[in-house]
Amino acid sequence: MANPFRSRGEWLRCALHTHTTESDGDLSPPDLVACYERAGFDVLAITDHWRVTEQPSTSQLLTIPSAELTFDLPEAGLTPDVLVYGIREIPDDPGGCRENWFFNEEEHWEQKTFPSLTDAAEFAHDQGGIAYLAHPYWTGMDARCLVASEHVSGLEVFNASAEHECGRGDSSLVWDAALDAGKVLHAIATDDTHRADLEVGRAWTWVRATERSREAVLGALREGLAYASAGPTIMDVNTEHDGVVITCSPCRAVLLQGGRELGSGVVAGEPVRGPGEVLRTTADGLITEAVLRLRPGRPTYQRVRVVDAEGHSAWTNTDLS
Ligand SMILES: [Zn+2]
Repeated sequence: MANPFRSRGEWLRCALHTHTTESDGDLSPPDLVACYERAGFDVLAITDHWRVTEQPSTSQLLTIPSAELTFDLPEAGLTPDVLVYGIREIPDDPGGCRENWFFNEEEHWEQKTFPSLTDAAEFAHDQGGIAYLAHPYWTGMDARCLVASEHVSGLEVFNASAEHECGRGDSSLVWDAALDAGKVLHAIATDDTHRADLEVGRAWTWVRATERSREAVLGALREGLAYASAGPTIMDVNTEHDGVVITCSPCRAVLLQGGRELGSGVVAGEPVRGPGEVLRTTADGLITEAVLRLRPGRPTYQRVRVVDAEGHSAWTNTDLS
């Protein structure tokens, strides 16, 4: 792990959860590429259900062969989804419970299952790929299966279409519960595009890559050299001797979490509650730079969230050094 804000490379704006007419999305693969080019993205992962939709990269948009797979979680009565990136093929028989396999004729997508999250992640890992758990709050999962898993790089901290559909887009509780248990996981934010007119460009992941290549993007996502956003931009996060200094686009709140019952935050126009300080604001009082400190205590982890005036958040990963 490393702090992406202090790492070599360039920031690439990535769409990491999207569907096309190859499963239940409404645009063909070339039309989806054009759509994400227009929206100013650098990287597109098409994650059709149980299918690797290969679409060539363009001069503007790097594509990464990916898919949305599923696994059995019988103890919870669920079949959660996992996003896998950098894979070449899908297994005919992933080994899960056949009762959970189906083909949805109406929406044109297929589901099979792996026996477990680790089995799905291992499948990606063995092909040089990586795995991120999709929308655990929307699915109804707690953190136990994540904590017990292997080869999982992280999870969707925010899924914009789940938020739009039913308000269950923000899975930060599941992330924090896993972090509290000592499991290091990284976060991504995604559109989960099915209807392009509604869903393109609502949430994205900034990846700090050493170059514009599939390998560099996958490597950065594996290491957590990225941050997730549904709006705000974070320019810098750095731990200095007396606290964490954050520089961001104009925000209403800047928050530092250090695990259970530990953290500090500053909110625009309000008295400072914890050991933090606003260093710079815009003319209308929104925060663009702040320093936050933790009270004495032992942080399990540290991560920063910033919230803009519209209520949209951005989330850093946990290496802020
Ligand atoms: Zn999806």
